[in-house]
Amino acid sequence: MLGSHVPWGRPEAMECVMALAAIGNCHREGCSSSIPQGLATEQLCLNHFLDEAFVRTDHALQYCRQGRSLSAGSLDWLLSDALAVVKNLEESADQPDADQRDRMLELLLILANLQEYVAHHSVRVERLA
Ligand SMILES: [Zn+2]
Repeated sequence: MLGSHVPWGRPEAMECVMALAAIGNCHREGCSSSIPQGLATEQLCLNHFLDEAFVRTDHALQYCRQGRSLSAGSLDWLLSDALAVVKNLEESADQPDADQRDRMLELLLILANLQEYVAHHSVRVERLA
């Protein structure tokens, strides 16, 4: 007789597919800190991201003070760095790390100053047509 087969059950394994892709650990050599959600595209832990961001903003400030022009790309990362910091501040709001928050707020301040500098000191922005 037909229909005596046990119908295939809903595969339970499907649930695994729904799990968030693991972001993994910081790509810096010797660093095993995990990457926060907000820095998935940077592939860096928060401390290393902040290290790099401070170096970048420092260079940009020096450029501005020398009256040199910032590229459109530089302005893009200024904005994306600021967004990443804001995201991380939101994510860490439940379990704040005082030192990291201080660094993030300091970085935001520098980024804001840099944007002001670009806006008000007639720093030429090179845009590719
Ligand atoms: Zn790291």
